[in-house]
Amino acid sequence: MCLLNILFPKWCMGCKSYGSPLCPSCLKEVSYIREPICIVCQEPSEHGKTHFRCQKHCPIHQTTTIFQYKGVGKSIIKQFKYGLRQRDFIDALGKLDKSWANELDFIICHTPNLVLSPIPLHKNKLKKRGFNQAEIIAKFLQSKRKILIINPLIRTKNTPPQAQIKDRTHRGQNVKGAFVLKENHLITNKNILLVDDLYTSGATAIEAARELKKHNCDKVYLFTIAHGIR
Ligand SMILES: [Zn+2]
Ligand SMILES: [Zn+2]
Repeated sequence: MCLLNILFPKWCMGCKSYGSPLCPSCLKEVSYIREPICIVCQEPSEHGKTHFRCQKHCPIHQTTTIFQYKGVGKSIIKQFKYGLRQRDFIDALGKLDKSWANELDFIICHTPNLVLSPIPLHKNKLKKRGFNQAEIIAKFLQSKRKILIINPLIRTKNTPPQAQIKDRTHRGQNVKGAFVLKENHLITNKNILLVDDLYTSGATAIEAARELKKHNCDKVYLFTIAHGIR
């Protein structure tokens, strides 16, 4: 056993067994999203592109997600977001089936001037939590694919967590006007891949995308680790 494992023992984020941040049996339980879906109607769509008929409701061009927010996947996200297991989370991501990377590479290959933009937290929430989970995920992606990270948005409204609001319409209202663009020049002619840990209705990412599109960026994409199926 390596010395690091003795000094910093690993516990599975799924079942709490000793040995690894994601044990082989929990790894098998992850519900991968094998068939990409449209963020608006949540019906299958090629490469997760927003259907033409759905685009009037949504400024996001295409969405990529790794797994469903349930079972082991839910446990991993919760421990990452509310706990202290950031390193283990990144290690666990490294163990996942790599098919999600094909969808990300599809976006990268077909999209010039692509930059990553983690969805910001309100400053009060950032102070309380101590880190922005979206930023950690963006840095993970950057380490794998060498894409620039920019932070053009500020979150000006400290909204209650979307998970506490059940209805899709109210989720939209909850985050309405929540983001303001701080640096216009950062996004001109850029394609922006928004990054977050989780989306359910997509209302937060859609609101962030609206603010970006208002100021002349090119297309907006979304990458999340998990999708909370409605
Ligand atoms: Zn386990
Ligand atoms: Zn659709």
